[in-house]
Amino acid sequence: MKTMPINPIETGSKKERKALLRGHHLICLNFFRGEGYSKEFIENLYAVIKKEKIEIVTGADEVCGKCPYLKEGKCRSSDYTDEKIHLQDQEALRLLGFKPGMIVSWKMLASKLPEIIDEWKSEFCFACGYRKVCFNL
Ligand code: SF4
Repeated sequence: MKTMPINPIETGSKKERKALLRGHHLICLNFFRGEGYSKEFIENLYAVIKKEKIEIVTGADEVCGKCPYLKEGKCRSSDYTDEKIHLQDQEALRLLGFKPGMIVSWKMLASKLPEIIDEWKSEFCFACGYRKVCFNL
């Protein structure tokens, strides 16, 4: 399975147009409203969502790469455990019908969201600190 290169910016100009994202970010980034953990993290999110295509990866991705909670390649957020984040990734891919290594687009994702979002919300969003930003919950 493919994982994130150490520095995706150094992978060449063609790859810069392809975002490398883990499972749960394929869903959550559709609800990005300009908020995040730090200025650098937010600027990176704007750059990620501008990319045309997405390659699905496992583990820490291009978003995690600018996150203050990423330590030694693992999510050390106080709200989650790395294991829970991996489970979220797997569940997101199950719901979307995608697998690591696939290349997808934001358009493909947007077309799948209506049929899966209620299940996703009930499983994960009620315990997430961003629920108010995404769904005003
Ligand atoms: S909180 Fe964890 S999963 Fe979310 S971006 Fe940061 S390191 Fe990645």
